[in-house]
Amino acid sequence: MSMNKVKYKRVLLKLTGELFGEKNGKGINFSSLEEIAKKIIKIWKETKVELAIVVGGGNIFRGRERAKNVDEATADYMGMLATIINGMALQEAIERLGAPTRMMTAFEVSFVAEPYIRRRAIRHLEKGRIIILTAGVGSPFFTTDSGAALRAIELKCNLILKATNVDGIYSNDPRKNPKATFYKKLSYDEAIKKDLKVMDTTAFSLCKNHKMPIVVFNINKLDSIDKILKGKAIGTLVSD
Ligand code: UDP
Repeated sequence: MSMNKVKYKRVLLKLTGELFGEKNGKGINFSSLEEIAKKIIKIWKETKVELAIVVGGGNIFRGRERAKNVDEATADYMGMLATIINGMALQEAIERLGAPTRMMTAFEVSFVAEPYIRRRAIRHLEKGRIIILTAGVGSPFFTTDSGAALRAIELKCNLILKATNVDGIYSNDPRKNPKATFYKKLSYDEAIKKDLKVMDTTAFSLCKNHKMPIVVFNINKLDSIDKILKGKAIGTLVSD
């Protein structure tokens, strides 16, 4: 670990549900979750950054993949509940390794977690707890990427780290098209115009309006978080 100074005080890490899944991206793979948790804690300890994590639910359920005979809003609520299941799994993995966490839900599920209250979330961060934010924005017709953008802005994070399975943003899926172009930097407008499927337009627009930078990076190279936090150009930076 280099001794360079950490550039950011508070960051929001977005973990898509697929990262929680088995090889096919479905279900929950507890051993890979443990590996992810280990790396997150190592970086969190070494950099002393305040860390909020927003989890997705795509490994369990996505509203847009619903069966035709399920109402869209109902399906979205099912998706939000899926993010809470992932949040519980992540909380368990992180706490087993000895780091303090608090899980918060965007709508109340009082038997399993605290409701999201902005000032309380900030307090947890200040006290050095990792917060796990679930249920997206708490409303149907949104995604957890929008949840990540919203929370990052209201919690005054300095950066969104969006973890994926590839090195950053490409012109199209590099796993399907090896000739896809890799972008080191993009403006918000470029990211929106190219319709890149990395984050949805609502999330990019929110970030644009509030000048919230996003770095998209490869979760399999989690050590790169350390480098990103020290200002190195790893992955793709989306900013002004
Ligand atoms: N969802 C929602 N509102 C939100 C966040 C999520 O309705 O604010 C639902 C939506 O159906 C979505 C699902 O929850 O498909 C799971 O979230 P997402 O697809 O963002 O998870 P990821 O792709 O990150 O795994």
